[in-house]
Amino acid sequence: MYCPKCGTENHDNNYQCTQCSEILHAAAPTPMVATGDGTLGGLIPYKNGPALTAYYLGVFSLIPLLGIPLGIGALILGIKGLRMARDHPEVKGKVHAWIGVVAGVLFGVLQLPAIVAWVAYLGLKG
Ligand SMILES: [Zn+2]
Repeated sequence: MYCPKCGTENHDNNYQCTQCSEILHAAAPTPMVATGDGTLGGLIPYKNGPALTAYYLGVFSLIPLLGIPLGIGALILGIKGLRMARDHPEVKGKVHAWIGVVAGVLFGVLQLPAIVAWVAYLGLKG
């Protein structure tokens, strides 16, 4: 690249001009920023609603009692999200859907037998 101030040819990776110390990178053309799917879409599956919802339900299924319906919802929506990700790979969300399914089962659905066992224990004790 050429220095915008003095015209000296510099290596593309140079931060400053070797001749006049002018900062070169500010003048460098900004690389094409990938919009939408290329960047954030890869991390957060905005287009895969069920997967994203399953993920949040899975996280909130940690809450005692309330976690039971949330966990069941996470499981159902997670499966839905996985199907959607399989049929339409461009919507992504597979990881979020899996987190929803696993967290929903672990925290939510398994609360049910745990609570039943706890109630039975209290009943037997009393
Ligand atoms: Zn220069």
